[in-house]
Amino acid sequence: MGQSVGVIGLGAMGMGMALNLQAKGFAVTAFDLSQDAVARATDAGIASGEDAADVIARSDVIVLSLPLAQHVETVIATGLASGAFSTPKVILDTSTSTAAVSRKLAELLAVQGHGFVDAPVSGGPLGAGAGTLSVMMGGEAEWVARAQPVLDAMAAKVIHVGASGAGNIAKLVNNMLVASHMLTTVEGLRLAEASGLSAQDALRVINSATGRSALSEIHFPNWVMTRSFDSGFSAGLMRKDVRLALELAQETGCEMPVSELVAQLWAEPQSGLRDSDDFMWMGDPQGAAELARGETDQ
Ligand code: NAD
Repeated sequence: MGQSVGVIGLGAMGMGMALNLQAKGFAVTAFDLSQDAVARATDAGIASGEDAADVIARSDVIVLSLPLAQHVETVIATGLASGAFSTPKVILDTSTSTAAVSRKLAELLAVQGHGFVDAPVSGGPLGAGAGTLSVMMGGEAEWVARAQPVLDAMAAKVIHVGASGAGNIAKLVNNMLVASHMLTTVEGLRLAEASGLSAQDALRVINSATGRSALSEIHFPNWVMTRSFDSGFSAGLMRKDVRLALELAQETGCEMPVSELVAQLWAEPQSGLRDSDDFMWMGDPQGAAELARGETDQ
């Protein structure tokens, strides 16, 4: 296959990415701060690096799947600080991060002869494991081309939206809509139930009509109506995306009154959801947070 691939961050998304890339024949080296996560990867036959710097040193293309922009900055600062590599490295940052940090890192790495592509993803842990993610990218075409075999293995759809940071902007716009769709869909289902129509029947209609979204078509049937509430995306990460979208709105002077209300409803005091709870609890038509508390605290 040729390219060696590093995966840094083996959480809900990164683990599936690493396993999928390994299954498709790439030589994968991985690292996570969590020893449990590393152990799960090595049990599956994935080589582990000593630290992030070691993974970067051993790989041509490095996939990052980290919670926050500051984690991405730390990994790059420690892993590429020396810049003393004989071949160019391509960083594919699939974390939901900020456009400002991605632009800064792309400029920094370009000086050292390396590439940084913001490549946030949609499709959840199932898409990560199956290699069917949607990837939205910002960065130089040269670096995207070098990472193409890895992208092809990870994704069903790859959309190069523009220069550095453009992928992050697209992802934040998308996830602001996800946060909103969750609330509007559950409100609709509550209205149906209050009026004597079951949520199940209302959902069948919505998904055959114009009120549908990925939330109503995929998330509600799989993780709300089944009452499993285990999509693999945490309320904390959803709140991060909403916060970053609103910060972007502030930076650009874009007014978003509906999104501001959505952010308030997602906040911990209002929703009752802890950062570690799955974000699908927010969609419970029977009353969400109190029920989540009762069931998860048992
Ligand atoms: P997660 O919390 O499950 O996993 C993050 C992993 O990163 C953890 O295992 C953590 O130990 C590790 N980590 C943190 N700092 C590190 C460091 N400095 N070095 C090495 N490892 C470090 O998160 P996730 O759900 O897998 O999400 C990862 C990223 O992908 C986030 O930016 C998230 O917003 C985004 N995302 C998640 C989903 C989803 O459905 N879960 C979907 C699309 C995008």
